Amino acid sequence: MMKRRETRTVDIGGVKIGSGYPIAIQSMAKTDTRDISSTVGEVLRLEKAGCEIVRVAVKTKEAARAICEIKKEITIPLVADIHFDHKLALEAVRNGADKIRINPGNMKDEGDLERIIDVCEEKSIPIRVGINSGSLMEMHTGRADPDEIMVKSMSEYLEYFNKRGFSDIVISLKSSDIRVVIGAYRKMAVRCDHPFHLGVTAAGLPEDGIVKSSIGIGALLLDGIGDTIRVSLTGDPVSEIYPAQSMLQSTGSRTFGPEIIACPTCGRCQVDLVSIVEELKARVMSNRSWVGKKPLIIAVMGCEVNGPGEAKAADVGIAFGKNKGVIFRKGEILKTVAAEDAVEELLKII
Ligand code: SF4
Repeated sequence: MMKRRETRTVDIGGVKIGSGYPIAIQSMAKTDTRDISSTVGEVLRLEKAGCEIVRVAVKTKEAARAICEIKKEITIPLVADIHFDHKLALEAVRNGADKIRINPGNMKDEGDLERIIDVCEEKSIPIRVGINSGSLMEMHTGRADPDEIMVKSMSEYLEYFNKRGFSDIVISLKSSDIRVVIGAYRKMAVRCDHPFHLGVTAAGLPEDGIVKSSIGIGALLLDGIGDTIRVSLTGDPVSEIYPAQSMLQSTGSRTFGPEIIACPTCGRCQVDLVSIVEELKARVMSNRSWVGKKPLIIAVMGCEVNGPGEAKAADVGIAFGKNKGVIFRKGEILKTVAAEDAVEELLKII
């Protein structure tokens, strides 16, 4: 079993992240933050889907001031994403932001950074120091490996924060190249004990973005690295949440529902296995009591080739034949049921 990298704890508006706490799922609203009702609507949809921390873009003073009103309507912590203008960070914190995300390289000078640290320190608000490979000029010179450049740059920022005595920091090192992402986080992991926000930036449309994020974030999670994750997709932010949950469950990091093992089906299958698995999954996942527990393994297999083996090995399994299936519980045959009754019979046992 993988061991989590040990980190300090950072409290983001009541959601604690770090090695002592579950890996939190976050996303970002795509609305204009000044449009309070649209932003609240989007955050509420994200909350319902399972998002645990939400970020909003703060481009103007009006957007920073809208945070105060948005926060009255939502229950998850809100992170203000700030670039270029330190005054927006000060305004966002004054208006109740639970965390500030900055890229120190985008600030005009150290004085601006100093003022952000002052206000965050005063209000006990953490800062995500997030660098993206695209924002580092040195990346394009070819003089060093991109992941090395990101780690060097982040180490310099951390040195500054350390000298200033501010340690309430979460780190992110994002790139659209998953090899750079994995390399940078692995190298940074041995240099500090700050929690990591993992993500592959600009991963693209869901069909590519989910694959890229699964490899990048998944590889790090299997190393025990990562304390909060965001799957960045070009699309509705709600579509980021299920892949994030699935990544956490597949890597053994968290449980959101039973583990359903299902065969891909082939010409040997004599039942509508796809519909059976879809119905079973929808019905078991509607029960929220699974969250946080050891996942129950359910196997649904199309025929007698691999079916009995997988079904026996699972907590509950079914191996289908012609229009019927044999149900197993903890390795023992329990009963034979008609294919049309399979979902109900499995649910009774589950
Ligand atoms: S279990 Fe049977 S139906 Fe399913 S893929 Fe294997 S051989 Fe085909």
